[in-house]
Order: sequence, then structure tokens, then C-alpha cells
Amino acid sequence: MRPEILFPLFASLDALKGVGPKLAPELERLAGPLVRDLLFLAPAGLKRRTRATVAKAQEGVLQTFVVRIDAHAPPHRRDYPYRIRVADETGFMFLSWFKGYGPHLAKSHPIGAMRVVSGEVRRVGVEASIAHPDYLAPAEAADSVPELEPIYPATVQTSSRQVRRFVQAALERAPELPEWQDAAFLARQGWPRWREALARLHAPESEADLEPQSPARARLAYDELLAHQLALQARRSRVRAEPAPAIPASDLSARIEAALPYRLTGAQARALADIRTDLASGQRMQRLVQGDVGSGKTVVAMLAMADVAAAGAQSALMAPTEILARQHYETLAAPLAAAGVTAILLTGRDKGAARTERLAALASGAAQVAIGTHALFQDEIVFRDLALAIIDEQHRFGVAERARLQAKGPSAHLLSLSATPIPRTLELTQFGDLDISRLNEKPPGRKPVSTAALPTTRIEAVIARLRQATAEGAQAFWICPLVAESERLDVADAESRAASLRERLGPRVGLVHGRLQPAEKDAVMAAFAEGRLDVLVATTVVEVGVNVANATIMVIEHADRFGLAQLHQLRGRVGRGSAKSACLLLYEPPLSTSGQARLEVLRKTEDGFVIAERDLELRGGGDAVGLRQSGLPAYRLADPFVHRDLLLAAADDARLIAARDPELSSPRGQAVRVLRHLYDWTAKAEQLSG
Ligand code: ADP
Ligand code: MG
Repeated sequence: MRPEILFPLFASLDALKGVGPKLAPELERLAGPLVRDLLFLAPAGLKRRTRATVAKAQEGVLQTFVVRIDAHAPPHRRDYPYRIRVADETGFMFLSWFKGYGPHLAKSHPIGAMRVVSGEVRRVGVEASIAHPDYLAPAEAADSVPELEPIYPATVQTSSRQVRRFVQAALERAPELPEWQDAAFLARQGWPRWREALARLHAPESEADLEPQSPARARLAYDELLAHQLALQARRSRVRAEPAPAIPASDLSARIEAALPYRLTGAQARALADIRTDLASGQRMQRLVQGDVGSGKTVVAMLAMADVAAAGAQSALMAPTEILARQHYETLAAPLAAAGVTAILLTGRDKGAARTERLAALASGAAQVAIGTHALFQDEIVFRDLALAIIDEQHRFGVAERARLQAKGPSAHLLSLSATPIPRTLELTQFGDLDISRLNEKPPGRKPVSTAALPTTRIEAVIARLRQATAEGAQAFWICPLVAESERLDVADAESRAASLRERLGPRVGLVHGRLQPAEKDAVMAAFAEGRLDVLVATTVVEVGVNVANATIMVIEHADRFGLAQLHQLRGRVGRGSAKSACLLLYEPPLSTSGQARLEVLRKTEDGFVIAERDLELRGGGDAVGLRQSGLPAYRLADPFVHRDLLLAAADDARLIAARDPELSSPRGQAVRVLRHLYDWTAKAEQLSG
């Protein structure tokens, strides 16, 4: 239940005087539907007005003058402005209005009246003027013209000043709230209390006050981050409180592990131990395993599935594409079968008797492991006892799809696998409700991929190198440039690149792109995987996770157009075998400084976690769009990059609160309740991580 003290802030916008059916939707677009939302609408800038005499009027500057009305000059032609001449003892200037201003100006500003006027000055020759003054009021009211004025976003119907008026009205409704921040922490940071922080947010006194690190903004950002972390925490403990089958580690799994041609890396062993602890707990697992391409997530998943099979239950592994599902099936079916575990493959393409038979095996429990695509959660698929749902490349699936798979086993444990390492800060905001294991160690024996950046002018040399390498039996990927927003152009580029490579290198050059039918795509990929093609030209559809151990060269055209994380992913396609691999990043000269910096990061490291951190740094907090696209919550004042230290502190704080006062019954706990309701993150958090 929402605490009563917050009621005035949860009123809809039209509760504010002057906000009617016309303005409400406009303001809502800017801020949100509630009075509360206006409070958090931060000014984006600051206007400064200086007092001046007419003689000191300055082009392009916001100035305020005290003047006498001298003369009215109504327009003598339609498209002329209405003008008023005004003067002080140093000279005269003009005020002008276009369109439809007339008699009322004459009436309200009679000749001889003293006025304060403020606006942006224009100067043409000696003549100074202000078009549509911001302020024109009796001189006695000169104090009502502010010297500093926050600038708010405006819309067609609302000016920044109107928005400001409503923000002020919202502020008047804001009560003093109990302090939810830790008193010592607050004092150490030197932050104001909530109400005061808001007042300062909306009354900046200098540019420094607009900075995200200013005490008022930092405090409000921290509130927001803390509220979000608390909501994620609560969600996590709610899910964890749901009962799920307790599955112990098994001999069966140990046998499969012992039969592997390699030993698990330390990171794999740790991830598996995390998973086993979760599975055995009797509480529902919600775990994400993050690890670079090639870090060996599949085998970890397989050993967990073996534990589930040993307990007499079923697992499902869902992959985003047909090719990947098939590849998983090919790697997993045999070792599982050797231990007596039956796996089936289920994709959209399986039809007829084979499909019926597989469905029956799932329904009866004859098959303990299902590997497949989206086909796994279609209505007619019934599991006898699904206890573990595994989602590979989880970011490729929507929340709804993940939920549908999990619904096949209402109390199934959930394991997500992701090959997109993300920085710790983003991890907290995106996956704060999941437990995370990181595979930050590669299987041994991998040779580093030597990475070089070359201008496109060197393309002939690259092709010559390819010719030599393929003659020696190597295989290569050639990634074609990303043409902004046009898949058609991407395809055209890839087609002509493939044609020109065939001319130079002979017929063993294949082409895949997003426009191919799935069956065609699979056929080309398969030909490449089986070594019947030397070079695979591709738009970026080269499937995440596809494993071709013999591919040792990756050429990326227009590498400067790809994001760092994407380049890293692409590079991850090579260097999977034990042979030495190379990645050639072609760029169109001249390369921008930021482009240079990004390619440099790639040349220096192959650690996806490091690259992700650097990527975030290089993009900075400025790339709000990119961050949004990566699924970040829409914070109002907090910026997970700029405020990353605060985010880490908020996550710790939320954990402490949950541990010390889970019922939120202490005085601070009571205040924290108010915070949680104020931000009302619950609904959003559910949408975010389903
Ligand atoms: P990803 O994390 O990208 O899904 P995979 O699970 O596909 O990685 O593993 C990539 C390759 O590494 C596979 O060929 C797999 O057999 C191999 N592999 C996995 N773990 C190890 C290990 N501990 N030692 C050696 N090779 C391993
Ligand atoms: Mg994988």
C-alpha cells in the first residue's frame, strides 16, 4: 500500500492549477503522467539574464532593461511586426511582435508607463530590438524577472517557462519525507535531504549545479539507484522463495565429466559449483552464466542437465537459431548417450513421424534432454517433468519467450547463458535480480588472435594473404560492412564482395546473409563447417556461437562502423582451434580519434569483460540511446556510467538492508518503504527481466 504521505505526488498532472486537457498530455510526454514525474524532470540548462542600460544592449544576449514606453507603431502591412519604442536615459530600442498582436498592447502599455522588459537582444546597425520579450511588466515588478532561470525541455504547446511554472507547483506539493538514506553516509557525502535536493535541482545557481555530480543531483540519483536495487533484490528473493525440485550433484554427471577429452577450467568448475548449489537448494535457481565466446558454457550446461537426468527429471536447452541448436545437439547427444541419457533435437523444421516420436519421448519422459529452438515451447510440446530450462544466448530472446519456455515446467530452475560480457555496473542494473557466474578464463591451449587494423587501401594485400592461407588449408570469414539501416544494401555489398573474391580466389567462396531462407543459410554454413568452402562472406549474420575450429582468419570490412562488443564477438569466431589465428580490421581512412581508440582496445586485449568496460568508458554516459538499446532501465536522474560508484554503493546498501531488516520494520526501514513507493520500480522491474 502506498503511504499516505505520497498521495499528493501520485495525483495526475491535471491536479495542478493551469494544467487542463490540452496541456496534460504534452507534459506527460515530457515527464510522465504524475505530479511526481514533474519533480524529477531535470532542467537541462541555465539562462542568465543581466541587467543593462539600452546603450549597453548586446547582440544575442539575454538582458533586462527598465524603460519608458515611448511610442506605439502598429504594423502598416500585414506581415510587419507590431512595434513599441521604449527608452531609458541612455537611448531607445524597439520591442516587436509578429502576427496578431495589436490593440491590447497599446492598452496595457500606455505611453509614458515605466516597464521592465527582458529578452534576447538583436542589433541591426545602431538599432537594438527584442522580438517577443520574455518579460514585459510594470517596473515595480522588476524583481519578478529572475537573473537565473533553469531551462526545461519544451513542446509545441508548452514553453520552458510554462514547464518551469508547473514544476514549481509540483514542488509546492512535495512534502518533507522521512530520511531513507543512512545518516552517516549522507553526512559523509555532504548531500542535502530529499526535499531540499529537489528544490536545488530546480533552482540551479550555476552551471556546476547542472552537473550530475552536484550534491543535489547525486543524492537524487542515488535514491533512484537504491530504489531500483531494492526492487531487484525483492524480486530475486521472491523468485528464490518459490520451491523447486532439489537436485543433488550426481555420479552420472561426474562420469560424463571424467570422460571429457579435457579438464574443466577453474571458471567452469566454479560456475558448475554455483549451479549445483542452486539446484540442490530446493529453491528456484535464477542464474546467468556470462562468458566470452569459446569460454565453454555448453559443457557446464550439459553437466547440469546430467544431474537433472540422474534425479529422474528433464531439461531443455533453447538456442536462438536452427544452426546453433543443431550444433549443440551434435556435441551433447553422444556424451549424454554414453552415460545413458537420451537427448532429442526439436526445431521448426522437424515434421511428421520423426517429430511425433520426439514429442512422445518428451511426454513420456523417455527423453531426459530436449535441445531446440523456439519450437521447444510451442503449445503441443509437453514435458513429463521439466526441472531445468536453459537459455543459450539469452539476449537473443524476449522476456515473453523465456517465460514461455519456463512455463513448460512451472517450478523449473532457470539457467541463462550469455556470450556478451557486460561491465559490472550494467550487470547490476540489468540483471540485479539474477545470480551471476562469470567464465572469465578461456580453456587452455588457445592461441591469442593477432589483431591488426589496416586501411582499405591495403585490401589487395589482404586478399593476397588470404590466397596463401587458404592454399595452406586455412579457412576465413569475411564480414561485410554494415550499411546503416538498409539490409538490401548490406546484401548488395556482400554479393559484390563475394563475386570479386571468387574472381581472385576461385569458386570455394560462400555467401550468407539475412535474406537467405533458413535452409539455404544452413546449407552454406554447413559447407563451410565441413571445409568445402575456404571463405565465408557474410553480413553480420554469422551466428553467435557457431563453432568452426578450422577457421583462423577473420576479415572485417569497415570495422569502424561496428561497436566494440560486436567486433569482439566477431573476432571470437576464430581462434577456436589450436592453430594461430588472425583478425584483420579494415577501415576507411582517415580513422577518427575515437575509432582509433576503439580499434586499439581490440588490438590490446581479448578479454570480453575488459573490452566491455572500455566500451562503456569510450561511449561514456552520453550514448543514452545505445545504452537504452542494451536494455537499460529508463532512469530519470541516474546514469549508470556517470554514477557508477553510486550504483555499486547502492547495490551494497540494498543488500545490507535486505540482510539486516528484511521486513523493513526499523525506522530506516519504514523510510525505505516510502522510497520504494516513491519510485514504484516494481512494475518496471517485472517488465525488464520477466
Ligand atoms: P561458448 O562459451 O562459446 O558456448 P563452447 O561451449 O561452444 O563455448 O566451447 C567452445 C569449445 O571449447 C568447444 O569446442 C568445447 O569443446 C571446448 N571446451 C570447452 N571447455 C573446455 C576445456 N575446459 N578445455 C578445453 N576445451 C574446452
Ligand atoms: Mg555457446
